[in-house]
Amino acid sequence: MSVDYLRISVSDKCNLRCIYCNPLGDCGFIEHKEILRFEEIERIARLFSECGISKIRLTGGEPLVRKDIVSLVGKLSAIPAVESLALTTNGVLLEPLAAQLKDAGLQRVNISVDSMDRDSYKLITGFDLLSKVTKGIYKAIEAGLTPVKINSVIIKDFNDNAEQILTLAEMSIHLPLTVRFIEYFPTGRYANPVSDYLPNQEVRTIIESKYGPLSNFVEEHNHGPALTFKIKDSAGAIGFISGRSSTFCGTCSRLRLTSDGKIMPCLYSAHTYDLKKLIRSGASDLRMRNLLKKIISEKGNYTKMNSLKDNFSMCEVGG
Ligand code: SAM
Repeated sequence: MSVDYLRISVSDKCNLRCIYCNPLGDCGFIEHKEILRFEEIERIARLFSECGISKIRLTGGEPLVRKDIVSLVGKLSAIPAVESLALTTNGVLLEPLAAQLKDAGLQRVNISVDSMDRDSYKLITGFDLLSKVTKGIYKAIEAGLTPVKINSVIIKDFNDNAEQILTLAEMSIHLPLTVRFIEYFPTGRYANPVSDYLPNQEVRTIIESKYGPLSNFVEEHNHGPALTFKIKDSAGAIGFISGRSSTFCGTCSRLRLTSDGKIMPCLYSAHTYDLKKLIRSGASDLRMRNLLKKIISEKGNYTKMNSLKDNFSMCEVGG
């Protein structure tokens, strides 16, 4: 599998306190001077693009809390070899920014919403902000950030009842968006308050018991591990990302850049490469490119099968 996809976490700060990700609010404490500056992110992205990376996704923490995020989008979209520029957000701050992000060159957006029930959303995220997120979803569609994808992590005893799962899935009937169900991934650090994941096969059974068999659907711009389907006559699609109940290391084309400048070749691996150290020590483009090529060529060494799982939090890495 060629490595062509870089996820860039632009901040470790988040404005939500999701029970399975940042329950104690202790993301966001990397010292400001340790966080990559926009020029550094732009340089890393440009150099990676010269080594074969053509797809970039901005994430966090929450990327929209990073001051002036629109200008970073503008800088990255101007890199000639970057063909796809997308962003993953919790959607809380999206409504006022969607059109500006689109104008700056953002193509697509994934919005994380684990429940469309106000109380349940508040229980999971710690904030009564579902209505803001919903406005952000509509604004993203209106701005043409297509396709909009909704990411929903289903967790036993929180949002796993049929009604909540169906309400999420039904968004894809009326709206031109893809609702993707993601199996919860225990990260070691914050696994305790959360009981367990719901296998996607069970989510699918719940949807099919109401709407009949889902039909296969080949989605454009599906650069990841999601398998996509459609409810009959729906405007959008349903996706399943089943990292627990299946293994997709063989099709993984992604690298992750943390907000403090480290490359993680695999979510399951403690191994990182410190790019910030190199950049701040004055490394030339040639030296940087040599390391990036090495990182890309070694990516296959790190997989779910042979890596050690690190004690990290998803809000540091960006999902
Ligand atoms: N704040 C942004 C957001 O909410 O989309 C970007 C960062 S967030 C860490 C990215 C994605 O990772 C979200 O969809 C979130 O639900 C998901 N995520 C976080 N922790 C997870 C976990 N332990 N297992 C599975 N997905 C997780």
